[in-house]
Amino acid sequence: MGFSKRIYNFSAGPSMLPEDVLEDVRDGLLNYRGSGMSVMEMSHRSKTYERIIGEAEADLRALMNLPENYAVLFLQGGATLQFSMIPLNLLGGSGMADYVITGSWAEKAAREAGKFGDIRVVASSKDGGFSYVPTVSANDFRPGADYAYITMNNTIHGTRYPYVPETGGPPLVADWSSGMLSEAVDATRFGLLYAGAQKNIGPAGLTIVIIRKDLIGRAPENAPIYMDYRVHADSGSMYNTPPAFAIYVAGEVFRRMRERGGVAAQEALNRRKADMLYGFIDASRLYSAPARREDRSLMNVVFTAGSEALDRRFVAEAEEKGLIALNGHRSVGGMRASIYNAMPLEGVDALVGFMEGFEKRSL
Ligand SMILES: *Cc1c(COP(=O)(O)O)cnc(C)c1O
Repeated sequence: MGFSKRIYNFSAGPSMLPEDVLEDVRDGLLNYRGSGMSVMEMSHRSKTYERIIGEAEADLRALMNLPENYAVLFLQGGATLQFSMIPLNLLGGSGMADYVITGSWAEKAAREAGKFGDIRVVASSKDGGFSYVPTVSANDFRPGADYAYITMNNTIHGTRYPYVPETGGPPLVADWSSGMLSEAVDATRFGLLYAGAQKNIGPAGLTIVIIRKDLIGRAPENAPIYMDYRVHADSGSMYNTPPAFAIYVAGEVFRRMRERGGVAAQEALNRRKADMLYGFIDASRLYSAPARREDRSLMNVVFTAGSEALDRRFVAEAEEKGLIALNGHRSVGGMRASIYNAMPLEGVDALVGFMEGFEKRSL
């Protein structure tokens, strides 16, 4: 059994990785660059591994243009642990933080933060089924808040911030799990940016936190040691055993991405893929996309064929054609095509070709 060729995987995560990265990893799997062992078997304190993690960080810094006053942390616990680590570490001033609710992940983050301090919901698009991103400006945030929190790309609902909101003071904290490295942003507009790697960067098990250094060291005395950003920053993400293999694979993704022209080249490709898919949906008589046009995600394209029965048939027939995991999130239904960085243009082309045929057969 098994597929003789690779298929197009539209899963929201874990998701596709670049084929050349997988080939590099395969080639080094038993004997990484003459070390005589796999990176999986290697001490994280070895010279070879120090170089691996050092290069991964340097490449990420170069890709995102990160200045010296930002630290890069390679952590575990997924994006979910950040829902707790962020308030635990950052609410040491006024104890207040303001959240914008643009989807289920933001809701979860705000609920968790409520255990730690005075959390206010500044704006929410829940009444509109999270089909848009509410406009927020500096006046919406409490000037004394310890931070303001947004979700940059809403994986489940297929929306994203088309701009970086102004907070008028409080550092901006953003969950960018499903979008980091998909398009250029000015990282210095943020106090903290984080992402679980399994959406757009690498294997599950690694979370990347990019934090302005003045926000480090504010955790309470009794904070669990793993949850204090300072502990990880002071030890170069080596306080305990890091997710060593996942960091290595993410590093290979960064290296290949730089070779291909960095974030600008990736963004151009991502825009082509998204335009192709939304363009087809908008012109079709069968499909529709619920997300507001200005706020459409470049990464997660949510759409429907108009009825539950048709959507179910679509997902099943697509799978037979090697276009897999097109079902929408269980809370939303319909379809979702996650077209992260590693999804090739050919994959989107194949999807559009299938959609065309399905429409003809269904109308
Ligand atoms: C997937 C996802 C999460 C949860 O990630 P885990 O790594 O599974 O904890 C949080 N936020 C967003 C935006 C996501 O897409």
